[in-house]
Amino acid sequence: MSRQWFSLDIDTIEKQLETNRDEGLVQREVTEKRDYYGKNKLPEQEKTPEWLKFIKHFHDVLIYILLVAAVVTLILGHYIDTVVIILVAVINALIGYIQEGKAEKALDGIKNMLSLHATVVREGKRHDLEAEDLVPGDVVLVKAGDKVPADLRLVEADHLKAEEASLTGESTSVTKETMVLDDETVLGDRVNMLFSGTSISQGTGRGIVVATGEDTEIGKINQSMQDVEEIKTPLLKQTDDFGKLISIVIVVLATLLFIFGLTFHQYDWQELLLSVIGLMVAAIPEGLPAILSIILALGVQTMADNKAIMRTLPSVETLGAVTIICSDKTGTLTKNEMTVTTVVTANQTFDVTGTGYEPVGELRLNDKEVNVIDYPRLFQFLTAVKTVNESDVIEKDNQWIVQGEPTEGCLVSLADKASQPIKKLSMQSKIPFDSSYKYMAALVEEDGQKRIYLKGAPDRVFDMAGLEVGSEERNYWEEQMKRRTETGERVIAAAVKDVSETTETIDHEDVSTGLTLLGLAGIIDPPREEAIEAIKACKQAGITVKMITGDHKDTALAIAKQMQLTDRDAVVEGRELDDMSDDERCEVVKRVDVFARTSPKNKLQLVEALQTNGDISAMTGDGVNDAPALKRADIGVAMGIKGTEVAKEASEMVLVDDNFRTIVNAVKEGRRVYDNLKKTILFILPTNGAEAFLVMAALLLGLTMLLSAVQILYVNMVTAVTVALALAFEPIERGTMEKPPRKSTERLLSPYYMFRIVFVSLLIGGSILLLYPRWVEQYGQENVSTITLHALVFAQLFHMFNVRNERHFSLNKDFFKNKAAFIVSALLIIIQLLVTYVPFMQVALGLQPLSLGEWFYPVMIGLGVFIVVEIEKLVTHRVFKRK
Ligand code: ATP
Repeated sequence: MSRQWFSLDIDTIEKQLETNRDEGLVQREVTEKRDYYGKNKLPEQEKTPEWLKFIKHFHDVLIYILLVAAVVTLILGHYIDTVVIILVAVINALIGYIQEGKAEKALDGIKNMLSLHATVVREGKRHDLEAEDLVPGDVVLVKAGDKVPADLRLVEADHLKAEEASLTGESTSVTKETMVLDDETVLGDRVNMLFSGTSISQGTGRGIVVATGEDTEIGKINQSMQDVEEIKTPLLKQTDDFGKLISIVIVVLATLLFIFGLTFHQYDWQELLLSVIGLMVAAIPEGLPAILSIILALGVQTMADNKAIMRTLPSVETLGAVTIICSDKTGTLTKNEMTVTTVVTANQTFDVTGTGYEPVGELRLNDKEVNVIDYPRLFQFLTAVKTVNESDVIEKDNQWIVQGEPTEGCLVSLADKASQPIKKLSMQSKIPFDSSYKYMAALVEEDGQKRIYLKGAPDRVFDMAGLEVGSEERNYWEEQMKRRTETGERVIAAAVKDVSETTETIDHEDVSTGLTLLGLAGIIDPPREEAIEAIKACKQAGITVKMITGDHKDTALAIAKQMQLTDRDAVVEGRELDDMSDDERCEVVKRVDVFARTSPKNKLQLVEALQTNGDISAMTGDGVNDAPALKRADIGVAMGIKGTEVAKEASEMVLVDDNFRTIVNAVKEGRRVYDNLKKTILFILPTNGAEAFLVMAALLLGLTMLLSAVQILYVNMVTAVTVALALAFEPIERGTMEKPPRKSTERLLSPYYMFRIVFVSLLIGGSILLLYPRWVEQYGQENVSTITLHALVFAQLFHMFNVRNERHFSLNKDFFKNKAAFIVSALLIIIQLLVTYVPFMQVALGLQPLSLGEWFYPVMIGLGVFIVVEIEKLVTHRVFKRK
């Protein structure tokens, strides 16, 4: 069904879609239409078939090397080797495949958490619905920052502009209107329509849904939107490159050794080839990539469970390196539970009683309730703030809540506390609130007179009311404002202006002069207790918190002090930032923690200054204008509740609860994940190192191979799927949030890590090699590979307990905190017993059943590794500390 909706008038559309522009649809019609039109969503994009996803995991240099090895063993007639090598390749692909499925599921879940919502009018009432539930005929309200949820024909448009680049390629915003258009009008010029998937950059509007799902313009070109980005993280990229490097080195080394063996040792070429294959599979950390992505995926999941939704995987790593968090004040650091406590008019100050949004309380003068009729200025002030208002307070489940903006909600409650009912006049035209100009105005008709009511930030309104700086009147109002802001209250002013009868619409020029100030309202918004704690945690973790708020500077500083965010008295205002050079801004962000009366542009300036200074910053935001700053910040943080869709799309992280503490928790989780990624690498590589060392030593010294290729593969796989996984569940190490953030330039394999990997490789490989002659003597050559295999596995088992703690002695009070470590250890031991004693497994791996005494060496080597590495940690940290 595709009609030329833009060329029809609203009456016709109402008739055709059986709706009403004011009241919307009734429930019965909604149900009928949903049955007929289906859900408002685009068909899922064709998914890659499962088998193909599985096959893709064989596309890897490391696996190619394995498959070549399989072919060689097949030609040489070592069929068991062939089967095992292929099995390893398959298991490896299977793990990768299952892992990918899990990560996909986690990300899908996150996508669902970010589902698009829409404000709909049905049966005359506003509802917040999932965009999926919209049907043609629904009446939808949109405002700046919204993503358009379906194709809409506009009924009302106030300063409405839309960004339609995703559909038309046009990069500038299109001004929207409501007039009927010619039926030849092309898509880009249909200014009375809003299209699904585009976004509102300014103003407010009301429209009737005319097309949903596949019938929308975007549906016709079938482009899916709202993708959660998925790219490789810097760390995964580093390991990928590292893997490739290893492969090349290995192949070269193996070839050289093969030639060396043939020339100097006169080995049988077939045997030699098998050994060289052994070397190749030994040195390749097959399981590493899969484990690293498991750790990341689990991290993303934990963060989501803790109310921080990551939209990109790399940000999980960046989070751990954050040095500065720039936070909004209202709702993030404070509770966003606003209550008006005082109203000030030209000659009186009224106290307001009652808490929360419940419209129960009194307006009092000198402790006595006043009759608002006796105070015309007060009466008009209340009319103004109730009229120029898009929010409401309602009772739901015995609780009074705001529908809309808390700042506006508390003004509605205030008006409803008056002794006489205050009328909400109908708005004939309006200038919606925007944090860049900080006021809202509406044209109304009151007792036959057209007038503009306005409410906004007092300092703006004082100028618009022509109060000269230094005049007695201005001084009075400034003094009144200061009293409120100094205690951390936010202040709203209201003003009025009569206009001529012919006025139909209003614009910024209409309110720039000639207003009469009616009064001020002082509003409290208490700090969040948990945010105070979180700020303290940041200080300990070497993270600076900066407040960037649209509020008055005294309010901002008072709250910052109450929350111990700063101990300095410095506040810089947005317009001061505007006047500074880039260099000056770089200096200012180092000295100042509180920025007030900022505009979204200031946020961008601050992010840029911080980046020039080399800081890694997280920046919060909610409005459509915040998008550039959110995009630019290392971690853009959008508010899940009050944030606009556009802000969410521009950011790396979305806070489900808009709470500052959630950011700090996510940073903590980011540090944990990064540490565990590093620990995993530190853990896995020595296995490969030790094996490669043994194979090379045997080749060079002309010894019998200690392990076959199959046995080596087995060791790599079994440690990767058991003990290595334990590190993914390792809780955050003590003291991690007490040290400064890591440097963003820090290399994955620091010199110390390189040293550790080589040290542990030599420790494990060397002790086996040293004991080898004794094993031959004591237990006979045929048992040596079995003992060697167990020695390697036990060494890694114990080594895992070393790696769990990077800085601390491992036998500390957190030793039992990671249950996974013990479960996988037990599992590993059971598997080891099975392969040693179950006949068919023995045969497959070429092992011998061991007597009890023969277990002595493997266990002792494991224990030895543990003790030596603990001593090494202690010594190294002493040395580092001294340095
Ligand atoms: P923060 O940046 O800390 O989250 P904020 O986003 O609430 O604060 P703005 O929304 O930019 O800050 O508000 C700045 C000022 O504009 C407020 O101090 C208040 O005086 C005024 N103001 C806020 N909301 C409205 C509104 N709905 N109508 C009119 N004026 C408003």
